[in-house]
Amino acid sequence: AKDQGRNTYHYFKPEMDVHALERLMLENALRRAIERHELVLHYQPQVAADDSRMVGCEALVRWQHPELGLLQPVQFIGVAEESGLILPLGNWVLASAARQLASWQARGLDLLMAVNISALQFRQSDFVDDVRRILADSGADPAGLELELTESALMQPTPEVLARMNQLRELGIRLALDDFGTGYSSLSYLKRLPIRRLKLDRSFVKDVPGDQEDVAIAMATLSLARDLGMDVVAEGVETEIQRQFLAERGCPVMQGYLFSRPLPADELRRWMDERGV
Ligand code: C2E
Ligand code: CA
Ligand code: CA
Ligand code: CA
Repeated sequence: AKDQGRNTYHYFKPEMDVHALERLMLENALRRAIERHELVLHYQPQVAADDSRMVGCEALVRWQHPELGLLQPVQFIGVAEESGLILPLGNWVLASAARQLASWQARGLDLLMAVNISALQFRQSDFVDDVRRILADSGADPAGLELELTESALMQPTPEVLARMNQLRELGIRLALDDFGTGYSSLSYLKRLPIRRLKLDRSFVKDVPGDQEDVAIAMATLSLARDLGMDVVAEGVETEIQRQFLAERGCPVMQGYLFSRPLPADELRRWMDERGV
């Protein structure tokens, strides 16, 4: 019935208006969702390549919609970015992840919490102040927090961007470059940035060891990271063959369905208990 309604509407209005209306409705719903605490974090474990022990996790946002069920980021992050709602959403994510990190630290667990930061968020002049305040409120030790930035956030490493990154580093926070290999990172700018880690994009992990180009990119990333004194996380590791190939070539940390899907906090707790983390 819903589809029919949409088609009828589609018949009377130019397509662009329908999209505009749908976007507006989604935007309003998302604004309310943030206020009504309908967002949740799932956590995907990151494991050491040598012995598969858990070394941290990545926080990934979901929207528990009262009627539509659990929505994935692909269904709402775009609208959040275009509408600016990514700013309150991003602060909520940071605060929730920091609280989870603080509770691990209170249990004596030395784990990293990686949080995605959108380019718009990173470019706000009060971003560092927000991070500082959120961390202080949570009581988390900043040494356990890693912010994942994308190449687009750092596209022009202006003095301001560089200064902001250094301020975050001075707070004790680690910085990682997400989706590495998909953008336009030039090697010369990489070495000037205070980045601790590269996240090798899933698209290059998918077809190793079969695809020669992906193998070349994966190996180049690993050797570049080694030369620059950075750590690497391979994303999207789904098979034992991928794991073994990357581990043999010195990839220290991995993340992917082979180890675990992103899990709600209670399931993550069980996953950790089962492994004795
Ligand atoms: P990302 O940062 O590259 O996150 C990794 C994505 O890969 C996640 O998708 C994760 O569920 C998925 N993934 C992990 N392992 C595997 C695997 O083995 N196979 C496959 N096929 N996929 C795997 P997810 O959770 O749907 O998130 C998608 C994107 O949405 C993220 O990509 C990130 O760009 C964005 N996102 C998620 N949470 C946040 C957030 O809190 N803030 C911001 N700004 N963006 C977020
Ligand atoms: Ca990420
Ligand atoms: Ca990524
Ligand atoms: Ca990716």
